[in-house]
Amino acid sequence: MNTIHKTIQSSGGRLTKTRKAIIYVLSENCCLLTKATLIEKLKTKKIKPNRSTIYRELQFLTKKNIVIKNTLAGVDYYEIPQDHHHHLVCLGCGLISKIEIGNHLKKQEKQIAEQNNFNIVNHSLEFYGYCHKCQA
Ligand SMILES: [Zn+2]
Ligand SMILES: [Zn+2]
Ligand SMILES: [Zn+2]
Repeated sequence: MNTIHKTIQSSGGRLTKTRKAIIYVLSENCCLLTKATLIEKLKTKKIKPNRSTIYRELQFLTKKNIVIKNTLAGVDYYEIPQDHHHHLVCLGCGLISKIEIGNHLKKQEKQIAEQNNFNIVNHSLEFYGYCHKCQA
């Protein structure tokens, strides 16, 4: 979290109360959150920013590569990637689960960068399908 604060400050950005709270909530959850859930969670912290503030803040943080925006099945999600993980997305109920990845895939992702001489700053990988409940 302090690293994120430093990144913002060193690029001349201000650390407002709202901005700090958004970073806090997102890093606390460390996986995909919708804007609505984010607002809900901010409310429990007694912070009630209006929609356009949230929109601007998320745009700012996404631009700075601090927050990743991910559109899955038409819904926008936001997350601060702290550990390397990917997602399972259920097309039935919308459930998103976080999955840890093995060394094999990690190696392969590194190779992709090397082989294409591409400096990857971020990536996301989602598997779409039906969860246990929705298969029934
Ligand atoms: Zn995630
Ligand atoms: Zn990966
Ligand atoms: Zn499901």
